[in-house]
Amino acid sequence: MTAQLIDGKAIAAQVRREVEEGVAAFVAAGWTVPGLAVVLIGSDAASQVYVENKVRQTRAVGMRSERFLLPADTQESQLLELIQQLNADDTIHGILVQFPLPPHIDVSRVISAIHPEKDVDGFNPLNVGRLAAGLEGGLVPCTPLGVMRLIRSVHPDIAGMGALVVGASNVVGRPLARLLLQADCTVSIAHIKTTDLVRRCREADILVVATGVPGLIRGDYLKPGATVIDVGINRVRLPNGGLKLTGDVVFEEAASIAGAITPVPGGVGPMTIAYLLANTLQAARSAAGLR
Ligand code: NAD
Repeated sequence: MTAQLIDGKAIAAQVRREVEEGVAAFVAAGWTVPGLAVVLIGSDAASQVYVENKVRQTRAVGMRSERFLLPADTQESQLLELIQQLNADDTIHGILVQFPLPPHIDVSRVISAIHPEKDVDGFNPLNVGRLAAGLEGGLVPCTPLGVMRLIRSVHPDIAGMGALVVGASNVVGRPLARLLLQADCTVSIAHIKTTDLVRRCREADILVVATGVPGLIRGDYLKPGATVIDVGINRVRLPNGGLKLTGDVVFEEAASIAGAITPVPGGVGPMTIAYLLANTLQAARSAAGLR
């Protein structure tokens, strides 16, 4: 391996320290302790683990976290009512509804119901529009914020660099492409219908992959020295029946061509919750009229 390893665990710990200091200063100035509400519907095991992690890490940086565990047969109207109560609650600054939702609930209605100033996931159409228009002050999705911090740990100034984002979801690819554009990169987005993916990858100084296709990107797709950020989290079955967590990039191949690369696990994963905490503090500061 010749590439620099981008240590997401260490950088996420640094982000959490920054949030902890920010929370302490906010509370010392006399403001209410920032509060995050996490809503989970149903008993999906993976979602329960994510929710517990979010609650634990929120409390660890000095914020309040309330969890709302609702049964799988909760009606959409009941969920919307809870969101309205949380919107009106001055002690709650961030609201996160854990996805996936049961199929009888309309995701877009839920996203739109969360007050834009408490939308710490950054999925509300108003926040999506703010980001698309390059306006300051909106809440931005957590994973793309985390990816930007990882890229900046290698290149503090990315203006003029060529970036390719493989994957165009609303959660990762699209918001990330907008952040890269705001940072003055020349940005392309690839997706499942993109032709000639290999050539496009080879042109990228910064390559971010978020497809959910294990091993999609091989070592020889890369421009030598490129910075490679692997967002993919895939559970792959091993011949012995066990499960292995892998990314969308063939790490062993890519690490000998890239200039810098994230591992999976330990790359983007820890950054997402760290930026959920940062967004909750940002929401509390905005509610207090601070920048
Ligand atoms: P998604 O399924 O919503 O979107 C996948 C995107 O990849 C689509 O735009 C699709 O067109 C594109 N794509 C699929 N196959 C492709 C191919 N062969 N070539 C080019 N493009 C292709 O997925 P998502 O929610 O954006 O998640 C993507 C991956 O990132 C998943 O593995 C997910 O688990 C992971 N993820 C990780 C974090 C984290 O915190 N690290 C957060 C969110 C998502």
